Amino acid sequence: MKTHIPHAKSGVVRKYRDRLPGIPDGAIVSLGEGDTPLIEAPRVSELAGARVYLKFEGANPTGSFKDRGMAVAMSRALAAGNRACVCASTGNTAASAAAYAARVGIRCFVVVPAGGVALGKAVQVLAHGARIVQIEGSFDEALRLSRRAAAELDGVALVNSVNPDRIAGQKTAAFEVCEALGRAPEALAIPVGNAGNITAYWKGFCEWSGPAPRMLGFQAAGAAPLVLGRAVERPETVASAIRIGDPASREGALRAVGESGGEINAVTDAEILEAQALLARAEGVFCEPASAAAVAGLLKLAREGRSPGGTVVAVLTGHGLKDPDAVKSRAELPEPVPADFGALAARISGETEP
Ligand SMILES: *Cc1c(COP(=O)(O)O)cnc(C)c1O
Repeated sequence: MKTHIPHAKSGVVRKYRDRLPGIPDGAIVSLGEGDTPLIEAPRVSELAGARVYLKFEGANPTGSFKDRGMAVAMSRALAAGNRACVCASTGNTAASAAAYAARVGIRCFVVVPAGGVALGKAVQVLAHGARIVQIEGSFDEALRLSRRAAAELDGVALVNSVNPDRIAGQKTAAFEVCEALGRAPEALAIPVGNAGNITAYWKGFCEWSGPAPRMLGFQAAGAAPLVLGRAVERPETVASAIRIGDPASREGALRAVGESGGEINAVTDAEILEAQALLARAEGVFCEPASAAAVAGLLKLAREGRSPGGTVVAVLTGHGLKDPDAVKSRAELPEPVPADFGALAARISGETEP
C-alpha cells in the first residue's frame, strides 16, 4: 500500500534525499518535519536596522528543529538494525528522540541533568514512553555517559548531534531559507548551545550555490564558552536549551564564524526574556527563551551600532510552549471575578479608549 500522500508535508528525508546520507526506502521515518514558515518581522526589523525574517522551527512536529536531524538519525538507526537509542539532552533532543523512537518502535533512553529540563519537554518524553535518566550532573556529563553507552552496548544508536546524521538532517533548514528567499540572506542569527545547529546551517549554506550569509551565533552570558574561549563548568541561564558549558561541535561553530566573517556574542538573561516578550507581543510569535537569544543578539548589535543590515534570518529554534514556567513565573493568572457583563464591558472600554 502506498502510504505517502503526494501533497502532504513529506518530511526532510524524502524532500532532500539526494543531499543526505543513504537511506533505504523501507527505513524512511518522518513525522512531517521541516517546511517551517519564514515569517516577516516588521517590529523587530525596525529595532534591528535590518529586514528580519523569523525561521520558526517551533512549527516542527515536536516543537523544535531537532526533528530535522532526528528524522535522518532515526531512519539510519533503523536501517542499521538498532534496537534502542540513547541521547543526552537539555530537553528538545529528548522530546524529539522519544517521538521518533516511538514511531519506529525502538527503545529510547534520554540522559538529562536533574532539574534542568523545561516542563513541556519532560512531559513530551513521558507521553512518548521514553525512559528518562536524570543524572546529578551537567549536560556535558550526560553527553559523555551517552557516548560511552552507545560505544560499549550492542545495538544502541547515539542520536545526539555528534552523530553526523543529525547535522545532515539539520542542514536542510538552510536549504529552505535559500529556497524561500531565492538566495541566502546577508546574515543568519542563531542561538548556540552544543553548536550542532550553527555547524549544520553553515554546511547547508556551503552546499547551496551562491554567496553564503555571515553567521552570527549567540550564547547566554552565563553559558558562553565560545565567547570566553574556555569551557564553563557550571553554566547558568534561563535559556535551558543552551545551558551548555563545553560544546561538542565547538570546531564547527568556530569554522562557520571564521569562514563567513561572522561572530559569536553573548546576551544576558534579561535581554533574552525581553526579546522573547517582544516576539510574542509585537510579532505574534511565541518561542522559547533559547530561541529568543538570536533576536536579543540582533537588537544588541543594533544598539552597539553594528547592525548587519540587509536581509537577516533569525532562527527561532523551539516553541514557547516548551517552557511554560519561563512566562508564568513573570505573569500570574488573575483571580476569578463574578460573571458580570457590565464589569467586562467597562473593563474593555476602559482599555480600548481611542
Ligand atoms: C538544541 C537547541 C538549541 C541549541 O542548538 P545546538 O545545536 O545545541 O547549538 C537552541 N535552541 C533550542 C530551542 C534547542 O532545542
